Amino acid sequence: MKTYKIITYGCQMNKSDSERIAGVLETTGYKKAIDRQIPDILVFNACSVRQSAIDRIYGQANLIRKLKTKNYKLKTIITGCVLPKDRQKFKKIFDLVFNIKDLKRLPVFLRYLERGKQIIVENSLKNENISYFKIRPRQENRFSARIPISFGCGRFCSYCAVPYTRGLEINRPAKDILKEAKAFVTAGAKEIWLLGQTVSSWKDPQNKNYEFTDLLQAVEKIPGEFWVRFESSYVLDFDDKLINFLAKAKKVSNYVNLPLQSATNRVLKAMNRRYTLEQYLKVLEKMKERIPDFSFSTDIIVGFPGETEKQFRNTYNIFKRIKPTMAYIAKYSPRPGTMAEKLFKDRISPSQKQSRFTKLDKLLKQTAKENMAREVGKTLKVLVEEWLSTKKECLGKTRNFKAIRFPSAENLVGRFVRVTIVKAREFEIEGVMAN
Ligand code: SF4
Repeated sequence: MKTYKIITYGCQMNKSDSERIAGVLETTGYKKAIDRQIPDILVFNACSVRQSAIDRIYGQANLIRKLKTKNYKLKTIITGCVLPKDRQKFKKIFDLVFNIKDLKRLPVFLRYLERGKQIIVENSLKNENISYFKIRPRQENRFSARIPISFGCGRFCSYCAVPYTRGLEINRPAKDILKEAKAFVTAGAKEIWLLGQTVSSWKDPQNKNYEFTDLLQAVEKIPGEFWVRFESSYVLDFDDKLINFLAKAKKVSNYVNLPLQSATNRVLKAMNRRYTLEQYLKVLEKMKERIPDFSFSTDIIVGFPGETEKQFRNTYNIFKRIKPTMAYIAKYSPRPGTMAEKLFKDRISPSQKQSRFTKLDKLLKQTAKENMAREVGKTLKVLVEEWLSTKKECLGKTRNFKAIRFPSAENLVGRFVRVTIVKAREFEIEGVMAN
């Protein structure tokens, strides 16, 4: 039987794409390659958010050539978030370059590949025609399910590649999302991820009055013991209705990823983020006040064109005040074709960006540890994700998405257990199983 391997870069949404790519390949007759086996199909599911992720894929060119000498039948594919300019460069390395929107057409592309043709798909399907949502995913594991509820984004933050790689946002109907969620829960899922580039902006395309909060409420009502998580959010979507729901939710997680990007309004404006620092802080304060055991992460870009040392200091000070449990800190890199790349010169040197990154990263270690320390002495419900057989330890997450480890001779993966927290580290808490 022919085999495949998928290498995934990027966010939860890309991981969700990979589960759908695997689903298509398996219905076409391919089987997942075992560990060191050289597959017949090697798929790179790319992320264009940072130049470094794209560079890493270019860096695989020699490896790909070597693998092809070992398995002459090997076909290489790149998809995911790939900007048009990068797509051109990838022509030199890959047999098939296609837009993830066109995933349903993959079996047709594979037939061409088998005849020895190279395919570069330039004109992909229009967003309204995508059949992506209808594809049955092959879950990475049975206990955690990813459900894309929207695709693409039309907010056009000036630095971001997504509107160009995925197109404008389209939302999936609530009835399809709920049907998929129910099926996953019935099949044993203990965690449901609702995913979208701006997941919190979702609205039912068949009823615009039915919003993200209504969807969360409906998912929460599905019978069974499971948690609901969502990513990525946009601060302006967090109105009182959503925050008040999160405050009393039982299954929906009390963790939110709330990207800030910069704490200076001028920089936020240049980024085309549509909120001010004051609006962001107001929403965050409400969430901290109302949602029990609330925990949050944020995203920050350092070295955005024109960001002065003083403006960076401002971000640093606000970061220190809001104390995120986790932060995804990026050094700005221009993505070809985006507004920021067209309008602004990237004049901040790599060493300045690195220095800002290092300062913020150091601060994150403090804020993260303070957040972790708050859990010591509590007994928390934990979903076990991994069992380290040699160390006899389980790794998992709390409802508010804190990473935890505890000793266990038994493999408890996919189960909820109660753990008493005894120690806090920077990005992890440690505990012992409660009786
Ligand atoms: S909200 Fe902005 S950063 Fe997020 S996906 Fe949309 S354009 Fe990109």
